[in-house]
Amino acid sequence: MNALSICNLRKTYSNGFEALKGIDLQVDAGDFFALLGPNGAGKSTAIGIISSLVTASSGSVSIFGHDLNTERNLAKNCIGLVPQEINFNQFDTVESIVLNQAGYYGTPRKLALQRTEYCLKQMDLWDKRDTISRRLSGGMKRRVMIARAMVHQPKLLILDEPTAGVDIEIRRSMWQMMQEVNQQGTTIILTTHYLEEAESLCRNIAIIDEGRIVEHSDMASLLARLHIDHFVLDLAEPLTTAPVIEGCHIELISDKVLNVAIPKEIRLNDLFNQLTAQNIHVMSLKNKTNRLEQLFMDLVTSK
Ligand code: ADP
Repeated sequence: MNALSICNLRKTYSNGFEALKGIDLQVDAGDFFALLGPNGAGKSTAIGIISSLVTASSGSVSIFGHDLNTERNLAKNCIGLVPQEINFNQFDTVESIVLNQAGYYGTPRKLALQRTEYCLKQMDLWDKRDTISRRLSGGMKRRVMIARAMVHQPKLLILDEPTAGVDIEIRRSMWQMMQEVNQQGTTIILTTHYLEEAESLCRNIAIIDEGRIVEHSDMASLLARLHIDHFVLDLAEPLTTAPVIEGCHIELISDKVLNVAIPKEIRLNDLFNQLTAQNIHVMSLKNKTNRLEQLFMDLVTSK
C-alpha cells in the first residue's frame, strides 16, 4: 500500500505562477522518504496540498488510499504535519500544547493523556512537561512540534525542515528519535537542507526543481551513480600553481590547500604517487562535500 500517491499534480497561484507543473510521486507505507529541492522549487506547495492547506489546481493526491478530494477527513487524519515555523502558543506548557492537539482530533481525555505522555517521552520532553514553552531551547521547541504532530497517531508524518537551525549534537539526537518513530511503523516524509541528514536517514528520495520532479529513486542507487569524488588536500609545502594530473581536476585554493575532483576509476593511491613524483607531499585529506550534496548540485543545475 502506498502511504502517499500523487498523480499529475499542478498548482498555479492566482498571480499566474506555476509552482507545480504536473508532479507524480509515490511513497511506500513505512518508508523514510526525502523530498529535496532548492528554495522555490515547490516543496512547501506540495506539502501544503498534501496536508490540505493549499488547494491544487489539478491532479490527485491519495493518502493511504484515501483520495484528498473525496475522502478529505479520512486522508487528513492519516497525516501529522510539522511545519517549518514554530506555531504553538509559546505561553502554554509543553504538556498542554500536545494535549490540546489530541483534543482537537476528538481523542477522549484519558487516552489523550496517555498518548501525550507517550509522545513527550519519545521526544525526550517528559521532564519538561510543566515548562512554559517559550522557555525551551530551539531544539526542544522543534521536538514539541513533532510530539504534537504525533499525538493523534498519524500513519504519515511530514517533517518540513525539522532540524533547521538546531546545532549538530541535538540534530543527531533528533535523527535517532525520528528513526525510532519510523521503525515503529510511521511513514516519514522529510524535507531538509542538511543533505547528510537525508543521506543517513532516508531510504527513498525525490528531488524537485522548478515545479518538476527531476529525480525519484532509492537512495542507494542514486548514490551509486556518483562517479566523481571531491577531496581537499592539505600540503606540507606551499605551491604557486596547481599540479596537473591527467583525468583529475585540481585547483589551488590557498598556497597549501588543493581541491581535487577525482573520477572513481582513478585510485587515491595513484593520485598520491603522482603528486609525490611532482615533489608534492600531502599532510591530510578530507571529503569536500557529502555525497548526496554533489548529486543534488548536479541535478538541480544541470538543465
Ligand atoms: P519551496 O518550499 O521549495 O521553497 P514553494 O513551494 O514555497 O517552494 O514555492 C514555489 C514557488 O511558488 C516559488 O517561486 C514561490 O515564490 C511561489 N509561491 C509560493 N507561494 C505563492 C503564492 N501564495 N503566490 C504566488 N507564488 C507563490
